[in-house]
Amino acid sequence: KVEGKNKHTIFIPAMMEDNRRRLIIANSIVSGLRNNEFQVYYQPKVNADEQIVGFEALLRWSSDELGLVSPDEFIMIAEQSGKINQITEWLLKEVMFNYASILEHFGEDTVIALNLSAHDLKNAKILELITSLYARHMINPKCIEFEVTESTYLENFDMANAFFENIRTLGSSIALDDFGTGYSSLSYLTQIQLNTLKIDKQFVDNLGISKRSTLVTKTVIEMAKQLNLNICAEGVETRQQMDFLVAHGCHQLQGYLFGKPTDLPTLLAVPYKKESK
Ligand code: C2E
Ligand code: CA
Ligand code: CA
Ligand code: CA
Repeated sequence: KVEGKNKHTIFIPAMMEDNRRRLIIANSIVSGLRNNEFQVYYQPKVNADEQIVGFEALLRWSSDELGLVSPDEFIMIAEQSGKINQITEWLLKEVMFNYASILEHFGEDTVIALNLSAHDLKNAKILELITSLYARHMINPKCIEFEVTESTYLENFDMANAFFENIRTLGSSIALDDFGTGYSSLSYLTQIQLNTLKIDKQFVDNLGISKRSTLVTKTVIEMAKQLNLNICAEGVETRQQMDFLVAHGCHQLQGYLFGKPTDLPTLLAVPYKKESK
């Protein structure tokens, strides 16, 4: 508007194209779930000895109509169009179905993490579904972790904390994802039911860039340690990053250095032997 009338003719078609794509995405999610267009990939989490301690489940969508759609794009659209609950319910069923083969291959103390969105906490059915899936698939609750972001409790702290408490009563754990990138007050961290902080990739990227950004990352890790929480660093891509993180007390690592998100048949095709220390 500021730039005058002429801009409109350039701006509006692009916006319409964008809206059209969003609409197609929103309208193809449910049929995509039904037609097996979605897949769960698993990315390893390792300890300081580079032994696999768990996996994060990450969704992949290869849409018949649009080709590969990134979760960064479709998760947000699913949240805005009220489709996220269906995605999460599908994800829960799929991961619990995969659970036995993952633990058989990687050991019975392997922890599988799933991402939940803020909207999932308002879904009255979700706890019931988790409970019934645990029973049906004989899940050890200790082997399931739920990753949430600060946005899940910013809107309704009491509801979120009640949900987290229920999850912990079931015996599973809660990880706060993308830690350090949100807007939440740090005082929340002492009031919320948490087991793990996931240090966001942005802080890992900053390691070694400058003295100041390294110091910020060090401080974030230090704070997590002071809060007595497990710490997992994400987006670890180099040996130097790993060495720094381990030296500063971060004992769980995730990133391309150890493995990219991979489909389950490929993961299970490679023999895995956990070395005893
Ligand atoms: P996230 O939960 O922060 O997941 C980590 C993202 O970082 C993943 O992207 C992963 O592939 C990527 N990543 C991991 N290690 C590295 C690395 O070393 N280098 C680089 N460059 N990237 C790395 P992805 O799979 O594209 O997922 C993006 C986001 O979409 C996730 O961020 C999460 O917020 C959301 N998402 C993915 N799957 C689900 C899901 O099943 N449910 C929900 N609610 N959200 C999901
Ligand atoms: Ca995550
Ligand atoms: Ca993350
Ligand atoms: Ca993220």
